Amino acid sequence: MEITPEIKDQILKTARVLSIPMRVRFRGVETREVLLFEGPYGWAEWSPFPEYLDEEASIWLQASIEWGFTDFPELELKTVKVNATLPAVNNIKEALDPFGSFDVVKIKVAEKNQSLEDDLNRIREVRKLYPTTRIRLDANGGYDIETALKLAQILHKENTPLEYLEQPVKTIAEMAELRLKIKELNIKIAADESVRKVSDPLAVAQTQAADLLVLKAAPLGGITNAVAIAQEAGLPVIVSSALETSVGLSMGAYLAAKLNSGYASGLATAALLTQDVTDHSLIPINGEIPVTRIQVNKTKLDPLQATPERTKWWMQRLERCLELL
Ligand SMILES: [Mg+2]
Repeated sequence: MEITPEIKDQILKTARVLSIPMRVRFRGVETREVLLFEGPYGWAEWSPFPEYLDEEASIWLQASIEWGFTDFPELELKTVKVNATLPAVNNIKEALDPFGSFDVVKIKVAEKNQSLEDDLNRIREVRKLYPTTRIRLDANGGYDIETALKLAQILHKENTPLEYLEQPVKTIAEMAELRLKIKELNIKIAADESVRKVSDPLAVAQTQAADLLVLKAAPLGGITNAVAIAQEAGLPVIVSSALETSVGLSMGAYLAAKLNSGYASGLATAALLTQDVTDHSLIPINGEIPVTRIQVNKTKLDPLQATPERTKWWMQRLERCLELL
């Protein structure tokens, strides 16, 4: 969509920079910084991680603007299924409690400074604690082919109820190679980090590097783009997000409801934050979250206000990224 001076004004006028403590360390961070702004159709969140360069962050901004400034029609689906997420921690019960009841859990594996044995122990412990739950493993590209293959063989032998391996190895070529090797084990591979640019899903599909695609609305530039990409790639899709408040998650929930792939979405991550910006947080109930716009409770914003230094940093980043659009 065209970013008019009026749209820019409205974003700059309503922008709030927040710093939200996490329940547990995740992706190397203990507080999550986000920027929220209010468009005519509701609140939107812009929260590219701080290390992202402007070029990438501006694509996330395009997605946020689309969400805040587009009158998306109501969908038939009113709720979407979501998975619980277990960071690479040892206090499993404590980490998963905030997710309530769930059918699918995504376990982070291949964390730096942890071994394959650590991963296997965590997986086995989850099975013990939640015997009926299906399991996804997310390696964020952290394994080499040999380790991923070894893991797949062990899990197969142990009859692990595995939905898929998410980005077990780094590159599309490595995933294609691994996929051939584990095909006989009947284990699926989902591409996540390999699907960031608009051209990526087709590359993954053409090289048969994955069985499934993980799509996130923000890095793909918004709902409209993400829907087009899913259709073009022709692979089943899992919608996910990036540690957002309920405002950011609501955009993902809309995308998930629109695509309606049948796979639980990675949109329960409000449970990983200690605070939220609304009275109706998208914390899963019976493994589902509603598909809805989020009413921000403004009294919740003040205590979460980022420091003046961080606010300045984000506002300057916002202005630079607006210029790029
Ligand atoms: Mg992932």
